[in-house]
Amino acid sequence: MTELPVPALSLVALIGISGAGKSTFARRHFLPSQVLSSDAFRAMVADDETDQSASAAAFDALHYVAGKRLAAGRLTVIDATHVQEHARSTLVALARAHDVLPVAIVLDLPEEECWSRTEQRPDRSFGRGVLARQSRDLRRTLKRLNREGFRTVHVLRGRDEIEAATIRLQP
Ligand code: ATP
Ligand code: MG
Repeated sequence: MTELPVPALSLVALIGISGAGKSTFARRHFLPSQVLSSDAFRAMVADDETDQSASAAAFDALHYVAGKRLAAGRLTVIDATHVQEHARSTLVALARAHDVLPVAIVLDLPEEECWSRTEQRPDRSFGRGVLARQSRDLRRTLKRLNREGFRTVHVLRGRDEIEAATIRLQP
């Protein structure tokens, strides 16, 4: 078991390619109400959690809710891939605006493993190329997180490390 220290008042970005297990991790370690997922917000604004054309509206709504939670001093976890720089910089800015710590938890699973999971999911239909691009973006992401302003960065590599991790909230 590995305890990951996370400040009790923080904005946690889960980071990982599709199929890495972000939503599973979020369900396991946080309250449902603490987790804001891009899928849920796409469904809210467009009736379809996979409708990428709804992403801008979905993230708008997600950031609005995250801001309300942080203003009220509530731990908030964002479940989205976060492999693109602009997605992360928005979160760092939001955390700063509310004077809370931005935390990154990276789930780094081999692309092959994620792909074989993805192929079995009825709720995912994108091609291999999408995952390959996310994977390239993730490699770049890993080099940049500290510089981007994430004050706590936890990187879990592989299935076993992800399985063994627990969250320890710090007052
Ligand atoms: P997305 O970005 O597409 O939302 P995700 O990172 O949220 O993906 P999950 O939905 O958590 O990924 O997991 C992807 C699939 O892998 C799911 O079908 C889930 O049941 C399965 N899965 C997650 N963790 C494990 C695990 N430790 N062992 C086996 N299967 C797992
Ligand atoms: Mg998910």
